[in-house]
Amino acid sequence: MKTVKAGDKSKAICHECQCVVETTFMIRDVALSDNSAIVENLLVAVCNNCDAVVALPQQSAEKVNETINKVS
Ligand SMILES: [Zn+2]
Repeated sequence: MKTVKAGDKSKAICHECQCVVETTFMIRDVALSDNSAIVENLLVAVCNNCDAVVALPQQSAEKVNETINKVS
């Protein structure tokens, strides 16, 4: 598994900018899509143009799943 850390750069499609953008991995508190919980200190890829969260690395997806399992 490829692990990333805060400050690493990548590219991803940003739904706000509607194009491929440069991203930077940062630690953020991210709400689940249904707002049932907030995952704290999650490593996410953030769009360099508009500051939106555009992608989750694998290691963060696992943490999100753990949180979902806790609240459901
Ligand atoms: Zn963007």
